Amino acid sequence: MRAAVLREYGEPLDVTELPDPEPTPDGAVVEVEACGICRSDWHAWQGHGEWADDQVPLDYVLGHEPAGRVVEVGEDVDRVAVGDRVVVPFSLGCGGCGECRTGHGNTCEDGLALGFESDVPGAFAERVGVPHADHNLQTLPDGVSFRDVAAVGCRYMTAFHALAHRADVGGGDWVAVHGCGGVGLSAVQIADALGARPIAVDVSDAALARAADVGASETVNGSETDAVERIHEITDGGAAVSLDALGRAETARNSVQCLRSRGTHVQVGLTTDAEKGEVSLPTDWMTRWEIDWLGSRGMPPARFDELLAMVDDGTLDPGALVGREVGLDGVSDRLAAMTDYDTDGIEILTFE
Ligand SMILES: [Zn+2]
Ligand SMILES: [Zn+2]
Repeated sequence: MRAAVLREYGEPLDVTELPDPEPTPDGAVVEVEACGICRSDWHAWQGHGEWADDQVPLDYVLGHEPAGRVVEVGEDVDRVAVGDRVVVPFSLGCGGCGECRTGHGNTCEDGLALGFESDVPGAFAERVGVPHADHNLQTLPDGVSFRDVAAVGCRYMTAFHALAHRADVGGGDWVAVHGCGGVGLSAVQIADALGARPIAVDVSDAALARAADVGASETVNGSETDAVERIHEITDGGAAVSLDALGRAETARNSVQCLRSRGTHVQVGLTTDAEKGEVSLPTDWMTRWEIDWLGSRGMPPARFDELLAMVDDGTLDPGALVGREVGLDGVSDRLAAMTDYDTDGIEILTFE
């Protein structure tokens, strides 16, 4: 198969021939039709994460948001069959531990992150192997295209779980979204679909224009105005829910401080080499106003039907976030563009 291989951090990927993956006994091989190019790929490509012992290996294939067709299954696979159209969540569960058996596969005790760990090479390739296929692979409704769900296996499902399951966003709620890259734009669209009023915050007017297109009630350019003050003005007292989609100290704190009393912050973005996983927060103030602080990671496979049903009936439209499609040879270029935040909505790899 053809694949884009990481040879050196920060250097163009090497598009070359690799042996096809083979299914493990309970795994499957998926022919990739589309796969989002995510900021997490950019972090891995840059070689970030050394401080957390989380650096991807070299001579490795990135890509963790695939959708495609099952072409092989192992002998122990029951539910999934060759020919199934599927989307693959990056946060792979084992299917057998207590977390997985109680519907929380995203926090699996033996979980693997597709496209980040040596056991599970990623999907910037014509084929990708997926372990524990019955647990992890999610079947697409007939009317939903691969292109439209190319980012559902990471950014879109992450935004959905954060807002619909963790924060329990309700109709009419003001929902602030800090950072309008892929996961932030997804959150804006999902909050709007859930009946909430999203406020999009970013420093790029282009990103804010896209956020307005996909449902933001208000936009705030954080480079021109104090985002916290502006959100308190817009909402007359603070947002009910706020999500940090970026993972910087400043956006995490802004997200907490833009809340009203008893508001809920959801942390979705992982921090950078600058924070190394730790951010200071105004804890006395959070106590005084009974602020909830929630972490949220991916989405449990058990909750996929809810999301896919809303895509199938048109309530959610992840395809509207796709700004650019490239082939395998174009992936490096789009990773490089992320260095300057010069991307257009969600950008995806396709094999058409
Ligand atoms: Zn991702
Ligand atoms: Zn598990």
